[in-house]
Amino acid sequence: MNKSLQDSVSMIKGVGEDAESNLAVMGIFTVGDLLEHFPYRYDDYRLRDLQEVKHEERITVEGKVHSEPSLVFYNRKRSRLTVHLLVGRYLIKVIFFNQPYLKKKINVQDTITVTGKWDQHRQTITAGEMKIGPYQMTTEFEPVYSIRGKLSVKQLRKFIKQAYQDYSNEIKENIPAFLREKYKLLDRKEAIFSLHFPKSQADVKQARRRIVYEEFLFFQLKMQALRKFERENSGGVSHQYDLTKLKEFISSLPFPLTNAQKRVVNEICADLKSPIRMNRLLQGDVGSGKTAVAAIALYASVTAGYQGALMVPTEILAEQHADSLFQLLEPMGVRLALLTSSVKGKKRNELLERLKDGEIDILIGTHALIQQDVFFHKLGLVITDEQHRFGVEQRRILREKGETPDVLFMTATPIPRTLAITAFGEMDVSTIDEMPAGRKTIETYWVKHEVLERVLGFVEKELSQGRQAYIICPLIEESDKLDVQNAIDVYDMLSNYYSNKYRVGLMHGRLPAQEKDEVMNLFSKNEVQILVSTTVVEVGVNVPNATIMVIYDAERFGLSQLHQLRGRVGRGSAQSFCVLLADPKTEVGKERMKIMTETNDGFVLSEKDLELRGPGDFFGKKQSGLPEFKVADMVHDYRTLETARKDAMELIHLDDFWTNPEYLSLKAFLEHAGIMDGEKLD
Ligand code: ADP
Ligand code: MG
Repeated sequence: MNKSLQDSVSMIKGVGEDAESNLAVMGIFTVGDLLEHFPYRYDDYRLRDLQEVKHEERITVEGKVHSEPSLVFYNRKRSRLTVHLLVGRYLIKVIFFNQPYLKKKINVQDTITVTGKWDQHRQTITAGEMKIGPYQMTTEFEPVYSIRGKLSVKQLRKFIKQAYQDYSNEIKENIPAFLREKYKLLDRKEAIFSLHFPKSQADVKQARRRIVYEEFLFFQLKMQALRKFERENSGGVSHQYDLTKLKEFISSLPFPLTNAQKRVVNEICADLKSPIRMNRLLQGDVGSGKTAVAAIALYASVTAGYQGALMVPTEILAEQHADSLFQLLEPMGVRLALLTSSVKGKKRNELLERLKDGEIDILIGTHALIQQDVFFHKLGLVITDEQHRFGVEQRRILREKGETPDVLFMTATPIPRTLAITAFGEMDVSTIDEMPAGRKTIETYWVKHEVLERVLGFVEKELSQGRQAYIICPLIEESDKLDVQNAIDVYDMLSNYYSNKYRVGLMHGRLPAQEKDEVMNLFSKNEVQILVSTTVVEVGVNVPNATIMVIYDAERFGLSQLHQLRGRVGRGSAQSFCVLLADPKTEVGKERMKIMTETNDGFVLSEKDLELRGPGDFFGKKQSGLPEFKVADMVHDYRTLETARKDAMELIHLDDFWTNPEYLSLKAFLEHAGIMDGEKLD
């Protein structure tokens, strides 16, 4: 019988029924799955120089016991034994938890070998293993595998070894030879061997390099193929806009465009003009001037004889956007309309009629406006604001309605470039990376909750000068009762504290839409001076007279989210402030608060957020939608990611891509993903 990596794991000697179901629990069904279950780290038992070891790394050292070990009991079961150890020139501490019996074994002047976790700040090893006597190498490296369920690591190692013995000849190369040569990559079989059975750190490094590239190349190949077919097969609108009018409009703006705005306007206009359908992401920090760019794009579409739509996630935002767009575009003779849930009955019907007859040029509203009973006369451009993950479904709806307008997604959450090209690999990305001149930075402070009293005094000082304040309480889940209660408590407290002097308003996601609007209205008219709110104010809200924001439990937010929130102040000409109330428990938590006080640059913060929290957490768990890689890490391997992206793009555009046998494995992979030559099956 022919062997194949698709064979069931039960074909491997030693894998019985029990083992088979234990492996299944871990998602390992085939021999291929097993061979690609790679170690997630390698325990390194070599002696290492303390100076080379990073914080929290595992380390093995040999040293001389410097003084009598000291033993402390917390209760009958828990204890801590501290040993001072002279390692080369360094005197460090070694701690053993709950092993009191070691005190008798370890004597002053003994040479001992310990393995454990290195705490660089405390110059301490928390020891896992200890041997009396000098270091003796047994194994240099031990692969460590993640396991779940009943399977033991020992069994898993045995199975992998057996699988490699029986099946290694079935491991086929899948990267074209010219690329393997170009980057001097191991072949697939060798790489898999080295990941499971390395002899040295260098082995692992070479093997990893190969697999990381492979994972990225295949992922990017799929993205680039989708992009190519999408462009070739979904005919877009070729906007023949009126350049003279457009220039007139731009010079009518109350400010000159920044260079970054000019650049992205050009990128967008090129897309508008081209018959290929625009599928572009526009990212720019809070306040970088995306609205003006959107207005220019919409106006271009209108001068070409089409209608435009602007979709935003909330009604409040829809109203604000409508306000700014009316101001900018009505003088140009553009007919705008706002469609929200408060437009009802006869008025709504009239509006829809006019839209259908082409008597409205630009429609602004929540995303409901491209659904249900809303029909456009000639829709050319759809812009969506502040929602980075609603592309695919929305595009399907549009297609079903027989419309294929150009689509521009705007987001104020600066996305690190690595994530942008990964999560949005099939899109084009425009970035406004420059702020309009003369912006004041928001002064940010980080304090502990215990000084709340002083913070409230600071807030009062601003209020007494006629300013307004936001007080933000964390809301992690929109439905979380506890968090809402939190906001209500703070609201009660502040209503008391400022009693008759200032009016306090309360805003949270559980309020009916009408009450939300009412509170927001009062706040924007300065009839309410202090707005206690959950994160619902995060997106877009614009009240320039608000100059101070206090954020409770700031350590519970991501950096990008804190930055978004902070962007609600600093919208006028006055100096603005942000106070983070936080008692972070971890080093990373402290680092995060600190960086907030140091920079106002959303891109710097998002890179940092990604670095500190990892890609999974970046978009929030639920909506992550990010691909999972077995070995590759989008943050640390981003250079490889970019290389693979470039290579994938070149490959997919080769004339002989689908016919040259050299690319057979790539072609098979795409076909398996449902992507065929010249068409996309979705
Ligand atoms: P965002 O990118 O957050 O949507 P906005 O478009 O709301 O930013 O712009 C923020 C503020 O900056 C607005 O008051 C807008 O009028 C102003 N603005 C936009 N572009 C410029 C510019 N080039 N020069 C000066 N001010 C600008
Ligand atoms: Mg905006």
